[in-house]
Amino acid sequence: MVAQVQGVVVSGVAGLVISVEVEVAQGLPSVGVIGLADAAVGESRWRVRSAIGNAGCRWPVARVTIGLSPADIPKHGTSLDLPIAVGVLLATEQIPKDCARDATFIGELGLDGALRPYRAALPAAIAAKLSGISRVYVAPGSARQVSVVPGVEVVVIRDLRQLVSVLRGEASGDAIPEADPIDPVAATLDMRDIRGHAHGRFALEVAAAGAHHLSLLGPPGVGKTMLAERLPTILPDLDEQTAIDVTSIHAVAGRLPLASGLVCRPPFQAPHHSASATALLGTVRGRHAIPGALTLAHGGVLFLDEAPEFSRPCLEGLRQPMESGTVRIMRATESVDLPARFQLVLAANPCPCGNGIGKGASCKCTAMAKRRYGERLSGPLRDRIDIRLEVLRPTMGELAGPVADSSLQIAGRVGGARARAAHRFSELPWSVNSQLPPGELRRKWAPDPGGCALLIEAERGGLSLRGADRVVRVAWTLADLCGVDLPSRDHIAMALGLRGADNGSKYD
Ligand SMILES: [Zn+2]
Repeated sequence: MVAQVQGVVVSGVAGLVISVEVEVAQGLPSVGVIGLADAAVGESRWRVRSAIGNAGCRWPVARVTIGLSPADIPKHGTSLDLPIAVGVLLATEQIPKDCARDATFIGELGLDGALRPYRAALPAAIAAKLSGISRVYVAPGSARQVSVVPGVEVVVIRDLRQLVSVLRGEASGDAIPEADPIDPVAATLDMRDIRGHAHGRFALEVAAAGAHHLSLLGPPGVGKTMLAERLPTILPDLDEQTAIDVTSIHAVAGRLPLASGLVCRPPFQAPHHSASATALLGTVRGRHAIPGALTLAHGGVLFLDEAPEFSRPCLEGLRQPMESGTVRIMRATESVDLPARFQLVLAANPCPCGNGIGKGASCKCTAMAKRRYGERLSGPLRDRIDIRLEVLRPTMGELAGPVADSSLQIAGRVGGARARAAHRFSELPWSVNSQLPPGELRRKWAPDPGGCALLIEAERGGLSLRGADRVVRVAWTLADLCGVDLPSRDHIAMALGLRGADNGSKYD
């Protein structure tokens, strides 16, 4: 008697449906697993055997062969325990013949038959849905995440005994439990905490509204980190697809409590400058992807403090993801693409000693040392950064000024501006101003005549063509924030201001 059940394993951060075949034949009692199983999968026969006994069912006194296909794909982990158990029960006719049709079973079995949540249940359920499976049996801890996958019936099961009753039609599954609250960005952060820094707050609002990459240049301790870590608080909620992707990534990376729901807020990642390229870009172990900071920042903000101190492979590794929105990890024989569409915030000191800003009176660095420091961030990387802000120490007067707008108030304006841009680009492959391609920008998205005139003036004054593109992108975001249909001379002037005082030569 041969039974077939569908299971799912996770490769990279995506699920892969595996066919589990169980044959129970006459012969000396034995059990074997074939089809490139790793140690954990091989051991699953012992877990399953105990679990079946403890669920009040019987393990066959026969030769049991468990085949996993496609056979050429290595299978890791414990996610196949449950499909194997169901396969054995089907092959021994302890549950009805068709009960596993169109269904899959996601979970790890304890020896006592209890079903434990599976870390990557969400990507597993998505893969199941894509291959036509309409019903997913999961542990209570995985149910909330899996329930967000549209078109999939979720059946919540505590243990194998209950599963057997449900499959026999004698009982039903549990209710989907409430999710544990999750908090990817500390909810305690608010833009209202920032005193002074009117320019910085405004730049952050513009960066959020147009999804512009941002760099902050200023001496140590001036408030660059304080600004950067509040950017997620004014970004809109993740759209449904991005929320599913972000949740899958953080679940696979083991960064989420198992019983959490969907991550709906943009994540924030701030790797230290001593981080290795592997920590930043991610790696592959077996077929398990270990997402790096770039992938963990997908849908949110990647903050690189003291950016020039990052190693060259790290900084160079940013370029391709900033272009494509994915990071490709190469191992000896295979490559895995992981999602990595993030908003970058770079912070840097103006010079190695940190004091070379404004009049820079106390700076002791040589001109050569300053130049070398600036050059560590390569041209192509800097080219993608639309807003370059100089952050200066607030004066006592500024610190004593009125309390600024809260994150909630700013997020409202950001949402309005994003909606305007999304409407304008509704027929186009992008939805935010930062993604406007240069050629397109010059052909179709010029500012009004006054704005054009100012731009030409600035170009005569040394603004490069690429610099002009960045100014126009930011000017569109400013127009969106003001609720007008075309950037004017004022918007161009403001956008020029957001490039910082004398950044032209330093950054072009
Ligand atoms: Zn210096």
